[in-house]
Amino acid sequence: MSSRKDEIARNLREVRERINRAAQSGDRDPAEIELIIVTKTFPISDIEILRDLGELNFGENRDQEAGPKAQTIPATWHFQGQIQSNKIKSICEWADVIHSISSEKEILKFAQSPRSHQVFLQVSLDGELGRGGASRSDLAQLADLVNESNNLELLGLMAVAPLGVEPEKAFADLAQINQGFKSQFPNSKYLSAGMSGDFEAAIKFGATHIRVGSSILGSRSPH
Ligand SMILES: *Cc1c(COP(=O)(O)O)cnc(C)c1O
Repeated sequence: MSSRKDEIARNLREVRERINRAAQSGDRDPAEIELIIVTKTFPISDIEILRDLGELNFGENRDQEAGPKAQTIPATWHFQGQIQSNKIKSICEWADVIHSISSEKEILKFAQSPRSHQVFLQVSLDGELGRGGASRSDLAQLADLVNESNNLELLGLMAVAPLGVEPEKAFADLAQINQGFKSQFPNSKYLSAGMSGDFEAAIKFGATHIRVGSSILGSRSPH
């Protein structure tokens, strides 16, 4: 019988192979692609296994769940969930990198944190703003605000491919948005895009940070 550790190690190896293949076929160095393992809904014991396998970048979506995990396991902790403004102060206590910022109000609140944070601005790739994110026409204003704050460092843009849209098409769109954004904000060097089902497409279109959960830890029970 295979243990949880064997299962996670095997899945992780497969994901790393997929990253390598996608990078090679896109003429990119796999070393420039950071794997963030999305541990939401999974127990601390799984995160300990991942840490023992040498992984040190973890992503969470919910403040209440993530705080105790981050307190137990020192690592780089990423927040990529929907932001509730009454939770920002608490998120600031455990999260190092925030992927899902999409409003001025959020930026102003994160800027009040006694700690510094690295941030991605989430851009919506669908008209309806269904999966979160700012509209592309608001990005410049948001980036200016991040750059004006002393304790926020702009890393780049983040996006989630809209449901029902070909990931290739969504990420081609994102690459174009990102190109314009980077020419306006040269300190924006990274791109957070791609999940279990679509990270190869994201890598093809320039993702530097991919957020992968179920391919490594298995399917999540709904909560
Ligand atoms: C849950 C989540 C992920 C990981 O999704 P998987 O399909 O399990 O890889 C990535 N990004 C965001 C924003 C998420 O909410």
